Parts: sequence; structure tokens; C-alpha cells
Amino acid sequence: MNDCLPTDSAVWQWVENAIRQVVAGYGYQELRTPIVESTDLFKRSIGEVTDIVEKEMYTFADRNGDSLTLRPENTACCVRAGNQHGLIYNQQQRIWYMGPMFRHERPQKGRYRQFHQFGIETFGIDGPDVDAEVIMLSARLWKVFGISEHVSLELNSLGSNQARANYRDALVAYLNERKDQLDEDSLRRLETNPLRVLDSKNPDVQQAIVDAPSLLDYLDDESKAHFEGLCNKLDALGIAYRINPRLVRGLDYYNRTVFEWVTDSLGSQGTVCAGGRYDGLVEQLGGKPSPAVGFAMGLERLVLMLQTLDLTSQVPQPVDVYVTALGDSTELYAMGLSEELRDNLPWLRIQTHCGGGNMKKQMKRADKCGAPVVIILGENEMQENAATIKFMRGDKQQQSVSKAELTSLLNEYFEH
Ligand code: ATP
Ligand code: MG
Repeated sequence: MNDCLPTDSAVWQWVENAIRQVVAGYGYQELRTPIVESTDLFKRSIGEVTDIVEKEMYTFADRNGDSLTLRPENTACCVRAGNQHGLIYNQQQRIWYMGPMFRHERPQKGRYRQFHQFGIETFGIDGPDVDAEVIMLSARLWKVFGISEHVSLELNSLGSNQARANYRDALVAYLNERKDQLDEDSLRRLETNPLRVLDSKNPDVQQAIVDAPSLLDYLDDESKAHFEGLCNKLDALGIAYRINPRLVRGLDYYNRTVFEWVTDSLGSQGTVCAGGRYDGLVEQLGGKPSPAVGFAMGLERLVLMLQTLDLTSQVPQPVDVYVTALGDSTELYAMGLSEELRDNLPWLRIQTHCGGGNMKKQMKRADKCGAPVVIILGENEMQENAATIKFMRGDKQQQSVSKAELTSLLNEYFEH
């Protein structure tokens, strides 16, 4: 679990703000749920025989003896809340969320025990139009962050429950012939949840499944039409994808569309965004049936990508204007002038010097905070109820100005 220090949080805020703007652009609304839920919710949704439920959850008994779990993901929580508050039945909803998730995994680059996901969930729409919208929204984020070239989309369909059951039989037959090539985890999965073997990260197991039967050959007609519909829409929208018949998800509730955005700029933790359709989950968690599709994006991996690719220069400096206070009794003048600026230009980020000191010391502070504009206030400026403005970048001359001129100059300079 990580601390997020002030320099990093600037990157995070920039990322979060961009995400908020993008989801708003699609008319999605935020759903905030507690980070603790009853353990049962995750067992019933994610599936008993999944990595998450078997070995990754932070589960504890509270003072009443109820078993609670720090949420390892948020789809189940959204469905729980949606059912509880009547948001889903007979309605269409487009929801987003952002916040911490918890999984007791082996920490490594791109894999943490408290991590953050941004996700969207839509309810009440069969698709494939909304499947395409969900993917398009994620693609827009890559565009906003300038990383479209560094991510690629993998797509598959898991079909209906019946199709998956048929496929499961074929897969089990195939894997039973190759038991000697499977690791302990995969052998166990073979008994409990064979599709999960396809998701193994072990290279030997990956080798063993190269010729495994393809899920796509087992699709029911409706799922096949749905998948073709989605592919056609993505083609028309210019969103490139690769059909990967081995793509399954680590959670049991998915059906039909599944997708992942992967990158090779992060080493082995290459999945930055993963999602799909989960038409059965709402009913499974006690609601009236409702189709649903969504995704979750790992924000640490996104931030890491932006840092690795050196794209964080777009992150704004925390301070626009540094206000100095030189000489005797100018402190109050500096504070007053800063407050007036905050009244008139509330979007401007102003840091007022505290702690006194000579010109050299104050300018050093100004330089350190990276503000492109410094306001120099000495006894003369105070006497004349004015200010000197100094531009730290470019060749704009230092100027002495009245307070009114200062306001309009700053407004102009920062192009607000
Ligand atoms: P992986 O295959 O990498 O373990 P997953 O299938 O468990 O991922 P999901 O549950 O689908 O992942 O979560 C969606 C996204 O959340 C992942 O693609 C990833 O970007 C991010 N994520 C998942 N687990 C972690 C973690 N422990 N630390 C950081 N990010 C994570
Ligand atoms: Mg995982």
C-alpha cells in the first residue's frame, strides 16, 4: 500500500480530472459506494474458485461477528447498490466510479495491495451498441493522455452459459490429455473452473494451451450475432482490435463480450483496462434480470505508463503566481493583495511568501515552486498601493503596475 506524495498527487489529480471530463462527455453519473461490503457479496459475484476470492481478499469479522471484506473490485458493489436503491430494474443507467480497491497479492511493479480503479458500468442495455460505446469511451481516454499508440485492444466473446458449458467439456478433454504440462494451480482449476486455465500467466501452461479448442467455435447464434455486431461497430468507428479466443477474465460473472486493453510498456503487468458484459449478475445478486456491461481501469498502471513514457510534462505546476513580501511590514500588504487576487481571479493558484527573509531567499523559494510569475512587493509598492510583476519565462519585461492593472495582466497572461 502506497503513500501518494504531493508531486505524485499532482499527476493523479490531472489524471482524475481528465477522466471526470471524459465520462461527463458521455453523460455518465458517479456512484459512490462504501469500501467495505459483506464478504458474501464477493463470493456470490466474483466466484468462489477465483484468485481473488480464494487468496486475495482482506476479510475480517467486525464487532458483531459479521464477515466483512475490503472491496477487491467495484462491479459487485455497484450492482448491490443499484438493486438496493432501485436504480436498475426497468431502467437504463450509465454509471462511473473511481476509488481504492484491496487485494492481498504479491506486491510488484504495477501490482499493489491497495490500488485504484476507475470504472464504468451500464445497466439495462443489451448491446452491442453500448458495448461499443464503453470501448469507445476507454479509447478516448488513451487519446486524451496521448497513449493511443501504446495500447492495444483484445476482444473475445464468452457466449451464453450454455455455450460456455459446451466449450468447457471440450476444453477439459483437451487439458486432460496434457496434464503433465500443467502447474499445480491449473490442475486445481481443471477440476473447479477450467476456463481459468486459459488465463494462466505461467509460460509452460500458456504453451500447453496453444492448440486448445477456441471458444469462438462454440458460440450460440445470438452471441455470435452480438459479437459480429460489436466488431462491425468498432470497424466503423475506427477502433482497432485483435480477436483473442484465449481471452477470459479472472472473475466468473462475465458472458458474451470481454475485452482488455494491454500495453507492452509496463513489463509483465500489461493489462491497463479490462471489462465485458455480465448479463446474469444483477439477477444473481437478487435483482430482476438486467443486461449490463462495463470495465475497470487500473489507475496505478495508467500513471506508471504516463511516467514511463515521459508524458507527465502536461501536468500543471501547482503554483501560477508567487507573491513575495520584502522589507519591513509588507507581509500584511502581500497577504491582502493575494486575497484580492483570489477574490478577482478565483481560478489562479497563488502562493504568498511566509517566513520573511531577503530578496535572494524569497526569489529562491519562488523559483523552487516553479511559478511562472512572481509579484515583488516592497515598501515602495506598498506605499503606492501597487505591485511589480516579474515573468520567469520568456522575455517579457518586469513591470510596475497598479492593482487593477495587475489583475487584468494576470488574467491575460494565463489566458483565462
Ligand atoms: P491481472 O490479470 O493483472 O491480475 P485482473 O484480471 O486481476 O488483473 P481486474 O480484476 O480485471 O484485473 O482489474 C482491472 C484492472 O485493475 C487490471 O487490468 C489492472 O489494471 C488493475 N489491477 C488489478 N489488480 C491490481 C493490483 N493488485 N494492483 C494494481 N492494479 C491492479
Ligand atoms: Mg489479478
